[in-house]
Amino acid sequence: MENIAVSACLLGYHCKYDGGSNLNHDVINFCKGKQIIPICPEVFGGLDTPRIPSEIQQDGRVLNKFGRDVSFCFQRGTKLTWEVLKKHHCTQAILKDGSPSCGFKTIYDGTFTNVVVEGLGVTARFLKDKGVTFIDF
Ligand code: SF4
Repeated sequence: MENIAVSACLLGYHCKYDGGSNLNHDVINFCKGKQIIPICPEVFGGLDTPRIPSEIQQDGRVLNKFGRDVSFCFQRGTKLTWEVLKKHHCTQAILKDGSPSCGFKTIYDGTFTNVVVEGLGVTARFLKDKGVTFIDF
């Protein structure tokens, strides 16, 4: 049976920036009986929970809402996520859309004004380039 990487917040882990989760019962039901590997790139990258929200800027850097450059944490989290996927032979992932890490269709535009644009989070972009496919919910 193939392992599937899943954004941990969708499974109910309280790893979201505000300390909550994004529990998704459709994802939970889909995952029943499957080999699931929870991932949270932002926690893997060393960021705290709760944490200041971050958005990807036009120049590719990731800044938190207070202007701190947290790009390194996102890159480190992506690297560790990829190590986990490789270790568990995951070629598919279920990711939380809209996140600066996990967004696989949309992200926020970097202005912290709740504007959503088409785009990929840092980790999702890396995984896509590695050939990982995303299961859409
Ligand atoms: Fe969820 Fe991904 Fe954000 Fe972690 S980084 S809280 S898994 S969306």
